Amino acid sequence: MASFVGTYMEREAQDLLVENMSKNLADADEYPALMDIHARCISMIANMWHPQPGEHPIGTATTGSSEAIQLGGLAMKRRWQEKRKAEGKDASKPNIIMGANAQVALLKFARYFDVEARILDVCEESHYRLDPKEVKKNVDENTIGIFVILGSTYTGHYEPVEEISNILDEVEKEHGWDIPIHVDGASGGFIAPFTHAGAGGPKWDFNLPRVHSINVSGHKFGLVYVGLGWVIWRDRQYLPKDLIFQLHYLGGTEESFALNFSRPGLQVIGQYYNIIRLGFDGYREVMENCLRNARLLSKALERTGWYVCVSDIHRKKGEYEFRGVGGVQPYHEGETSADYNEGLPVVAFRFSDQFKNDFPDVKQESISLLLRAKQYIIPITERVMASEPIDLAALQGKPTSLARRQGKPEAKPLKKVTRAKAGEGTHHPMAKGGHRSVC
Ligand SMILES: *Cc1c(COP(=O)(O)O)cnc(C)c1O
Repeated sequence: MASFVGTYMEREAQDLLVENMSKNLADADEYPALMDIHARCISMIANMWHPQPGEHPIGTATTGSSEAIQLGGLAMKRRWQEKRKAEGKDASKPNIIMGANAQVALLKFARYFDVEARILDVCEESHYRLDPKEVKKNVDENTIGIFVILGSTYTGHYEPVEEISNILDEVEKEHGWDIPIHVDGASGGFIAPFTHAGAGGPKWDFNLPRVHSINVSGHKFGLVYVGLGWVIWRDRQYLPKDLIFQLHYLGGTEESFALNFSRPGLQVIGQYYNIIRLGFDGYREVMENCLRNARLLSKALERTGWYVCVSDIHRKKGEYEFRGVGGVQPYHEGETSADYNEGLPVVAFRFSDQFKNDFPDVKQESISLLLRAKQYIIPITERVMASEPIDLAALQGKPTSLARRQGKPEAKPLKKVTRAKAGEGTHHPMAKGGHRSVC
């Protein structure tokens, strides 16, 4: 919980993983079937993100999105350096742009690989997302690329990839700088392709020529156990040759462009299992169900009058404001995520103004602490959004896996919350579904 990472797989999948615990993803000659499975996963995931005719996507499994992001960033840095050198220009001061809501992996890239991080404020107005206008003000000839987050870790909002891409088109027209986008789809990369809501705007993936690479965490909404990410470039030309190593350790020739050499291969098998087992419709069902659960929780929280959600996936499409307890929309049979704002199945909430007025001494930390005692870990996020000192809590659901392993009973949600939705629980479609792992 609160880390988005899967803790549940089907028993058959689990058996398969245990059988393959000894396989090393680096040993292509010893495990050719594993290599085929890896190649098929890359192909299917790449296709999910719409490469264009004539392009040849290339990618690799990683240990998570963190490694995938380092690789995506490195490719952008290296291409920028090569271009600057070819033009006889200074290539010593690269910078990269991202929002203040960036996950630590993005900041690590900048610090570990000597790239200046230009971290732009996000605010309520921009729905806690990277603001395209700010992007325009902050790019220059040394900008190697923009990290655009499809699914903010803090509020679940998708950043507007297409709008940012359009702004970069304007920048190119004005200044001649061709600035690429790497989409951090750690969570959203496996959600937006399947949900009815999509990514909001019509385009976010390889449909946009500026999106050179995308990463996703297989161990988040790919529904695999921890230890798996993917990075994919839309075409070989966007992965500089300099980053690809040709290895001949075991006889055959193998290309390597991940940070790790040896690593477990079992998660890749888990990913293949899930893709084959669930298919498009299966992933769609899981993701729609996660979103339904998140909407139910959001609405229940807002109906107490104590809380207001900072996330917007439970508000009708285009609405971004809390309209009072009476304004919370009831559930209607047959509705899908298409009726609501797009985003991750994340519920981020804070005390309502009314509550703060009535109980000025109660701190959000106290709620978090009390819930922790019940095995719910609800992070308190203060001042994430640099321009806006806001105190919010993000909640993603069920008891911790540790509690389940220890056989502790499931913690009951706050009484107030259950009461607010009394009568809806048993026959409600949200009661179904065995994928508590991720939401
Ligand atoms: C989780 C997350 C990451 C890091 O991914 P890992 O798979 O945990 O390495 C990066 N960016 C975003 C937006 C994330 O949600």
